[in-house]
Amino acid sequence: MHHRQTLRIAVLPGDGIGSEIMPGCLALLAEVTATATAFALEFEHLEAGAALYQRTGEAFPDEVFAAAAQADAILLGAMGLPGVRYADGREIAPQLDLRERLSLYAGVRPVRRLAGLPPVLADGRAADLDFVIIRESTEGLFASRSQAAVEDDRVARDTMIISRPVCERLFDFAFRLAERRKPKRTMGKVTCVDKANVLPSQAFFRQIFNERAQHFPGITADHCYVDAMALNMVKRPWDFDVLVMENMFGDILSDLGAALVGGMGMAPSADIGDRHAVFQPCHGSAPDIAGQGKANPTAMILSGALMLDWLGERHGLAEAQTAAARLTAAVETAYTPGTLIPCEMGGHAGTQQVFDAVGASLAAG
Ligand code: ATP
Repeated sequence: MHHRQTLRIAVLPGDGIGSEIMPGCLALLAEVTATATAFALEFEHLEAGAALYQRTGEAFPDEVFAAAAQADAILLGAMGLPGVRYADGREIAPQLDLRERLSLYAGVRPVRRLAGLPPVLADGRAADLDFVIIRESTEGLFASRSQAAVEDDRVARDTMIISRPVCERLFDFAFRLAERRKPKRTMGKVTCVDKANVLPSQAFFRQIFNERAQHFPGITADHCYVDAMALNMVKRPWDFDVLVMENMFGDILSDLGAALVGGMGMAPSADIGDRHAVFQPCHGSAPDIAGQGKANPTAMILSGALMLDWLGERHGLAEAQTAAARLTAAVETAYTPGTLIPCEMGGHAGTQQVFDAVGASLAAG
């Protein structure tokens, strides 16, 4: 008798629109894996975030962290609410705690334009934009976030941490991703995005990048200052393949990346470490639109597809990778006719309409 492998998914919907975009995503994940013979997903619903903090005084209880850490993968909606902060004024961000505590150093943010959506850039070459931002997610300037920075109400200091072991793993991850993308993209290029001309920590970042590049002779190693990259992402984003950068630079440029493909609701992400991974949309809890049924769940769905792909690769489950490809294709098919335009792009498709359209194309495909 053949047993299906159970893959346990820790589900953390979180705050604001997080809880609006999660249920439909889980339904699609269940649908696309229903016929798998080698594995089955099991969802474990967990609670963390600002709303939990408001109710209980705890944002991320130890047992919730432990359950998430024991799962095969973590699927997260969005966390944090403006105005809800810890007593010391720090923002409530269990998603950042997860990245740091589980050493999820590679924040993978694909920037891929889907056919059928209103164009953002006029140049026709932007029609099939496809590059990936890798944001280091455990140190960099964010490493200072839990430390008191203001001294005597006179001066404030945040320190950017760049460490060799994290950088080596980060760059190797970036080069391996470029190798994996090469058959499809042909470019085979990793661009180190930094500020090596001004900050010694960033010169160190670039130095380690150059060292690791030697181990990947089939991939072009390229450099660009972060300010120039902001320009290039608008002027010629089609020239890039994999971009790798420090935490805060990645935080900023991935929002620009999301804008290039239509908005925050189109941008999925994966935070990957050597043993654990969290999958969540790039956006936050969007309190300005929460409760209105307007949130675009596409980034959530595509994050679910990234999760299936990662699980498939990690556990040698071809069926999970096929399911990931089917779910991604269902999203693409839903948008291709050009009639499904999410609210954030000026259209009328709310959360449910997007779920329905993707569900219909999944059923048809
Ligand atoms: P964080 O710092 O937690 O990333 P943030 O404060 O930067 O969050 P978001 O919550 O990402 O901001 O929201 C930024 C803007 O994008 C808001 O105007 C929000 O309404 C919009 N937005 C974010 N996600 C979506 C979505 N899924 N659908 C539609 N609009 C969205």
